[in-house]
Amino acid sequence: MTVIDLSAQATPLELARPELLRSQNFIDGQWCNAQDGKRHPVSNPATGEVFADVPDSSAADAADAADAAYAAFEGWRATPARERSKLLKRWHALVLANTEDLARIMSHEQGKPLAEARGEVAYGASYIEWFAEEAVRTYGDIIPSPPGKKMMMVKEPVGVVAAITPWNFPLAMIARKIAPALAVGCTVVAKPAEDTPLTALALVKLIEEAGFPVGVVNIVAASREHTPATVDAWLKDERVRKITFTGSTAVGKHLARESASTLKKLSLELGGNAPFIVFDDADVDAAVAGLMVSKFRNGGQTCVCPNRVYVQAGIYQRFSEKLVAAVAALKVGPAHAAGVQIGPMINARAVDKIARHVADAVKLGGSVLTGGKRLTEGAEGAHYFAPTVIGDASPAMELADEETFGPVVPLFKFETEDEVVQAANDTPFGLAAYFFSENLARVARVADRLQTGIVGINEGAISSEMAPFGGVKESGYGREGGRYGLDDYIQTKYLCQGNL
Ligand code: NAD
Repeated sequence: MTVIDLSAQATPLELARPELLRSQNFIDGQWCNAQDGKRHPVSNPATGEVFADVPDSSAADAADAADAAYAAFEGWRATPARERSKLLKRWHALVLANTEDLARIMSHEQGKPLAEARGEVAYGASYIEWFAEEAVRTYGDIIPSPPGKKMMMVKEPVGVVAAITPWNFPLAMIARKIAPALAVGCTVVAKPAEDTPLTALALVKLIEEAGFPVGVVNIVAASREHTPATVDAWLKDERVRKITFTGSTAVGKHLARESASTLKKLSLELGGNAPFIVFDDADVDAAVAGLMVSKFRNGGQTCVCPNRVYVQAGIYQRFSEKLVAAVAALKVGPAHAAGVQIGPMINARAVDKIARHVADAVKLGGSVLTGGKRLTEGAEGAHYFAPTVIGDASPAMELADEETFGPVVPLFKFETEDEVVQAANDTPFGLAAYFFSENLARVARVADRLQTGIVGINEGAISSEMAPFGGVKESGYGREGGRYGLDDYIQTKYLCQGNL
């Protein structure tokens, strides 16, 4: 592993357009502070240094945002779809035009390498473009009707949508919620993750510049401490008709419980525990490359990251040697340093969990093939962990059950197809799974049996604006992306005209 000077101070956050760095909420077309004036600090995970602050909003601010979104709803849903689409395209163009600034803000507050942050801007923007195109195609149905009647189904926006997003993809997660909501005529209140509010606020600044009507999108920032009460104002508000959430399963369940009293529609994109299976008949080089792509993006802090890697006995040794060589060659360092592939983890809590999983694995007989430790030299205030491969992993280890959310690959050896499919499905989660095999019949069998919302077959990069992203079991429900991505923001209405 190459470690690039961890003591290097982050370069100052220099932006071509400094006005994109916002420090206020955006409610009813106005940038404003929290009503009680409270603030919440934002720090750089590469240094621990606080470099900005944002409002620490309360229920009162959330209520103001809901008032604004509710007041804007009738006008926005009546806006012709083509007009909504044009505004989305303008937003899309502005996001792309400001890629460098958005990427810098993102890397500064989240820690991901700049090259990855630029990639995330393009990825998030692709959802805005996609839903701008879908906005004009929300057709209904004419139902073959009995004589004297005309029966029809029309699609309507659900109403005010509350979007709550995590820190790991500060731009893409919120873009792929706001874009479909706006496309169908919903209005939005949003609350970004406490560690990464600045990217979301910059994105909303570009919504303002694109010229969307006042109140159509509103955003409030809040600390971890105040978030439950702030979001609770939306959960209890019967005018908020939908919650779209990406984050942990525990918080997803809380939102499902608490929104039951107003029976809101819910989309929950929750945690995963993805299996990655390599069969004896796989192309080993392609499998290693696929694993590197899917595991180490964002330092392993990705919900679709392989968490358990199963390798068939016949190629276990060959695969593990090639993998260890690739992992050992990764470059770790601060986001802005040239060539960095793995940045700091988001916070102390995150790196503590990774260290706990590795220590537990070693205690239960796992062998550290590379990495396995915190990188602390020169990294005071930051949270680096060495990219790690653990051999001889077993199901009793904590990392077999729980998302590690870091740059750690545990290798489990298996013998038969039946055994590995059973092991892969032996988890409450069901977001993504991957497998590599050159055997056509096996590909069909295994794809059919894996209990996940997404399956990568001889492919590690599965996310795309063109396809439905989402999970089953305790990874949640609802889909983002593709032509299916609008459905979660739509309600159907049946019209029955008689006496014809
Ligand atoms: P988290 O659940 O702790 O936080 C997510 C969001 O929920 C944040 O905005 C947070 O402020 C908010 N939140 C926290 N407590 C809340 C409460 N009581 N009421 C309302 N809102 C609350 O998750 P995280 O640690 O930020 O993100 C990591 C998790 O997200 C992982 O489990 C990961 O797998 C999951 N994730 C899933 C997907 C997906 O598409 N399925 C994508 C990215 C991340």
